[in-house]
Amino acid sequence: MQAVTLSSGTSMPIVGFGVFQVDDGATEQAVADALAAGYRLIDTAAAYRNEAAVGRAIAASGIPREELFITTKLWVQDAPGEANALRAFDASATRLGLDYLDLYLVHQPYGDYYGEWRALQRLHAEGLARAIGVSNFMPDRLLDLVLHSDVVPAVNQVEVNPYYQRADEQAQMTELGVQIQSWGPFAEGRNGLFTDPVLRAVGDECGRSIAQVVIRWLVQRGVVVIPKSVRPERMAENLAVFDFELTADQMARIAAVDLAASQFFDHRDPHMVRELGTARVD
Ligand code: NDP
Repeated sequence: MQAVTLSSGTSMPIVGFGVFQVDDGATEQAVADALAAGYRLIDTAAAYRNEAAVGRAIAASGIPREELFITTKLWVQDAPGEANALRAFDASATRLGLDYLDLYLVHQPYGDYYGEWRALQRLHAEGLARAIGVSNFMPDRLLDLVLHSDVVPAVNQVEVNPYYQRADEQAQMTELGVQIQSWGPFAEGRNGLFTDPVLRAVGDECGRSIAQVVIRWLVQRGVVVIPKSVRPERMAENLAVFDFELTADQMARIAAVDLAASQFFDHRDPHMVRELGTARVD
């Protein structure tokens, strides 16, 4: 598996497996199938309410801990202040059955994320989080955090897909030493992604599916990506992207389908600031 090296020195697989919207009952099997398919990076979050099931699958897999790369995320409610965030980390680690995390992320740029970041810096210094990062930070919020913190986030996990490519933001992150990670690589199928004529034509040229073209396109851009599927055949398909290469012309044609707009919502929309900022995870 191809990997990137984070600013923390940690090696991170470039393709991983995400479990958002996989309910707790289905998660253990999905993660077991993903590990069997060869995924080693698993991406969950306290807000997904399936950390315990992820933990059971990890324990049952028998895969040595050092071969895995486990990410979870701190929810908005686990602030203000460092103490609340540290308690939330302990709860997540306990649910996952792990004594350290490979990557711990501030899930949303809302509330007291500076307090959360100070807690994450402490967890990183203590070796409990091998790398720390953020998610859904727009360029202004990311730069402000970098300017006013001791540790630069190793990762910013944001929506990236063919319709929201964020090349300028990736350039800014690279300059700051922040690794970009894509969530929603298929835009969950929105805007007709799985029937897109440009992606289909490129796929036909390579003898690959649209999903594989999208994952390969992200890998060639140096974007870490965590596709989600509950179907073993798709898990394998989404991982089988290391034995072909897109040409410069194919990359350029995919670049041209960019709509430069989120396929979900803008994290700066006041409606979402209220909805996500006040959502509670039991
Ligand atoms: P994706 O873009 O990965 O799309 C997932 C959808 O695509 C599912 O409906 C899946 O269906 C389908 N699919 C997967 N593979 C294929 C394939 N080969 N062919 C056809 N359809 C396919 O969306 P997600 O929102 O799940 O994003 C991925 C991960 O990113 C999440 O699981 C989560 O870990 C993370 N994430 C993080 C967020 C954040 O705020 N930080 C927000 C959202 C996601 P099926 O399962 O039936 O195969």
